Amino acid sequence: MTMRYCPSCGADGLARPELKKVHCPACGFTLYLNAAAAAAAILTDGDRILLTVRARDPGKGMLDLPGGFTDPGEGIEDGLRRELREELGVEVGHLTYLGSWPNTYPYGGVTYTTCDVVFTGMVDPTGLQAFDDVAALEWHPLATVPIERVAFPSLRSALRRYLGKMDPPSPAT
Ligand SMILES: [Zn+2]
Repeated sequence: MTMRYCPSCGADGLARPELKKVHCPACGFTLYLNAAAAAAAILTDGDRILLTVRARDPGKGMLDLPGGFTDPGEGIEDGLRRELREELGVEVGHLTYLGSWPNTYPYGGVTYTTCDVVFTGMVDPTGLQAFDDVAALEWHPLATVPIERVAFPSLRSALRRYLGKMDPPSPAT
């Protein structure tokens, strides 16, 4: 976190008593940095799954699930449907909740904490295109999904749950 001066009074010396809280001892201003809601979709066509290639950092060139951040004032499913329109040019039908996983997203010198909510659904591959921050689309058979090429640990965990695989043990702390 690179914020130095209080956005309310301009004083130097902001404190970060918790990961989610920035506090100014001079004027008492407190800014909460809550986890941002984000959503992703595991979209299948028969026995194959759609993965996207990231066009931008973080994780440029690595694989991803289509989706993105929820806008203020937007529901998580509506935000996901908007992202799928923007990234793939597609309207998806029924979406089923799979689970949620925490993630971090470093962008522009700030590391955002997110809660990634993952849904599953089916998609008609006809007319799908890569738009926006998607460089390309890749279809992979469910039996050989290259999970290690997926950029974010949250989405790797989601794919493992979907595919019935175990998460690797957490590194010792
Ligand atoms: Zn202040």
